[in-house]
Amino acid sequence: MLLIIRATVLTPDQQQSDAAVLIDGERIVAVGRTSELLDQADAVLDVNGLVLAPGWIDLQLNGAFGHDFTADPASIWSVAEQLPRYGVTAFLPTIITSPLETVAAAQAVLAAGPPPGFVGAQPLGLHLEGPFLSPHKPGAHPPQHLRAPTLAAVADWSPDSGVRLVTLAPELAGADAVIAALVERGVVVSAGHSLATAEQAQAGFGTGIRAATHLFNAMPALLHRDPGLAGAALADERICVGLIPDGLHVDRLLVRLVWRLLGAERLALVTDAMAALGMPPGTYQLGDSTVTVDASSARLADGRLAGSVLSLDAALRNLCRFAGCSLAQAMPTVSATPARLLGLSDYGRLRPGARADLVLLTEMGQVVATWVGGRIVHGELAAD
Ligand code: ZN
Repeated sequence: MLLIIRATVLTPDQQQSDAAVLIDGERIVAVGRTSELLDQADAVLDVNGLVLAPGWIDLQLNGAFGHDFTADPASIWSVAEQLPRYGVTAFLPTIITSPLETVAAAQAVLAAGPPPGFVGAQPLGLHLEGPFLSPHKPGAHPPQHLRAPTLAAVADWSPDSGVRLVTLAPELAGADAVIAALVERGVVVSAGHSLATAEQAQAGFGTGIRAATHLFNAMPALLHRDPGLAGAALADERICVGLIPDGLHVDRLLVRLVWRLLGAERLALVTDAMAALGMPPGTYQLGDSTVTVDASSARLADGRLAGSVLSLDAALRNLCRFAGCSLAQAMPTVSATPARLLGLSDYGRLRPGARADLVLLTEMGQVVATWVGGRIVHGELAAD
C-alpha cells in the first residue's frame, strides 16, 4: 500500500495540512493525519505540503495534441495518455454533430478498450454533442449533419455502449421521447445549441434533462423579459451548468456572476478544447471544419469560436481569478460536481472507498503529479 504523506488536502468543506492518503490498488482506503497512518504503509511518498486533490473530470473535450475525436475516434486513447499533465484523470471524449456512423465508430473504439500498456486518463464514455441541435444555433457544427431526434437514431446509445452524455436542443420536435428514453437508460441529457424558451427548457428539465451545455454559448442571451434556456438553467436547482472559463467564450464578469449564483455545487467547468490544445498555433480540424488557432482562441474562417485551447488546470485557475474564489472552493467544479452529474459516486472525491484518482498541485494550481487508479501517470515522484 502506498501512503502519500504531508499533503495539504482540500475537501469541499475543509483544508487539512499534514494529511496522509493511503492507497491500496485502485482505491483510497484511508485519509487521515500523517502520524496516524504511517505504520500501515509499504511505500511512503512525502509531498512536502503540496495540495492533493481528487482527480479532475472534463465533461467536454473534442480532442487535443493535434487529434480531433470526431475526425479520428481512434485517437481517444493516445490523447488520454497525455491528459494527466493537466490534472485530468477522467473525461468524456466529445463527438460533435456528424453522421451516426461516426458515433458508432467512437463507441467501437471505447468498446475495444485501451491498447496494451495504456497508462492515462480514463474515458468515461462519449459526450455526443449533436446531431439533435437547433439549426439556428449550430456553432461550429456542420449544418448538413444536423437531424431531428428519433428513437431509432438513439437505439444503441447507453452507458453500456459507451454513451454517457448527450447534448440536444429540447425544443426540437421528437426531443421529448428521446430525452425520456436516454434518461431511462442512464444517459445524462444536457440542453444546448438551442433556441429553447424558458418554458421549453423547463419542460425538458421535467422530462429529465439535468445539465446545460456551455452556458451562454450557442443559446439566446438571457434577457430580463425573456430568460430563455440560460435563465431557466440558472434558476432550476436540478440543473448543473457547464461553463468554458477561457475569458473569451463568456465574459469574466458573467463567470463571477454564475459562481456567486451557483457555487461549486452546480457549476462544472469544461474546456471544450479541440485538437490544438497542447499544440502550437496553426490550422487544425474540428469535425469537418478547418479552424485557425492562435495563442488563446480557435476560430472558424468567419471569426466564430470553434471550441477552445483551454486546459482544465487553466480553467480552474481562471475561475479562481475571475470569481475571486479559492482553489479549495473551486475544486468541486472539476471533480465532485461533474462526477455527481454522471452518477459516479466513487469519482471526484478524496475519501475512503473512492478511486485513487489524484492530482498533486502547487497552491497556485500548477499540476505537479497525477495518479489514475492509484498509478502515477504524470510527474517525477518516487516513493521510499
Ligand atoms: Zn458546442
